[in-house]
Amino acid sequence: MTQIQVVGRHSIDAPVLRYDPTRDELAAHLEGQPRYRLDQIWEGLYKQGSDLEDISNLPKSLRQTLSEALPPALTPEAESVSRDGQTVKWLWKLHDGHMIETVLMHYRERTTVCVSTQAGCAMACGFCATGQSGFDRQLSVGEIVEQVIRARATSAPRRVSNVVFMGMGEPFANYDRTWAALQRLHDDMGISARHLTVSTVGVIPGIDRMAKEDLPVNLAVSLHAANDTLRDQLVPINKRYPIEQLVSACARYLAAKNRRLSFEWALIDGVNDSPDDARELAAICHRLRAHVNLIPLNPTPGYPTRGTPGEGVEQFREELEQQGVNATVRRNRGTEIDAACGQLRASRQVIDNPKRR
Ligand code: SAH
Repeated sequence: MTQIQVVGRHSIDAPVLRYDPTRDELAAHLEGQPRYRLDQIWEGLYKQGSDLEDISNLPKSLRQTLSEALPPALTPEAESVSRDGQTVKWLWKLHDGHMIETVLMHYRERTTVCVSTQAGCAMACGFCATGQSGFDRQLSVGEIVEQVIRARATSAPRRVSNVVFMGMGEPFANYDRTWAALQRLHDDMGISARHLTVSTVGVIPGIDRMAKEDLPVNLAVSLHAANDTLRDQLVPINKRYPIEQLVSACARYLAAKNRRLSFEWALIDGVNDSPDDARELAAICHRLRAHVNLIPLNPTPGYPTRGTPGEGVEQFREELEQQGVNATVRRNRGTEIDAACGQLRASRQVIDNPKRR
């Protein structure tokens, strides 16, 4: 087989990984094969899983050639499972040694995979473990997609219903590959647009681009502060894309897609958890009919402030409710397995749990 050319790689000298090629790119390199082979391979990759050896209707020699031409992107470096078995987190090593994380979360009514879009992140939010360690590189389409494929294999028999782009990195700083990955999840893995969510730190050009795409995916914005003075400190990119402009971009997205918008708000003790903060946030939510996801800050090595304690979280939620804003308190899933926010990579610790589902 000739060398496969694909556009979704992270750089031109990077290897072509198993989930990098589009269907057409793969087809171009199956010349001499009967046409139905492409369907078999594509079906095998996206409906069955990452293991080409398991595509039993392919001739053995082709399985082997493909396996070698298209190596998997992710090598497990650590896998940890929460005590209740409902959260699984992976630390993957990439072909060049960089590390990324993926989380699988089972809820009563859904199963969600949280994927990374970059190795590291350049947005430099001080409270975020990934932001503290800086940017390594973009992920390729295949490196993003394979995270979902691998998580799905572990999730069975429970079906992966939702994917959130809330792992490491800023999706809109890697827009093309992120969007190509979203299309792949939708078109080839069969995950509906309303179960796909992209979370951004507030990169306005990305929001506007996504408003023009055909798939109406959900938009989440990491707000954390509702005035520029505080947000400039917590989320440095706010100096470039201040709140008023960000809110306008959100309004444009809402107008274009009519999907519920959500704001993420990491509650930081004594920093952004006062009744005034709640009222300021509520005013923004009213304009956009937005929902709020509250999560008490996970402590990270580089940021000494703690998360708002339980009572304060409840008070903040009640204040929002009184203002007529819906808010959900997110449990800190898998804190004990460092499953929160870039912390597995930071600690590189594995908890070996024999009760794996
Ligand atoms: N760059 C994107 C997506 C990755 S971060 C974004 O900013 O939205 C996913 C969410 O986790 C963001 O809301 C981020 O602000 C939040 N987060 C990061 N570090 C955190 C921490 N230590 N505790 C709680 N939430 C955190």
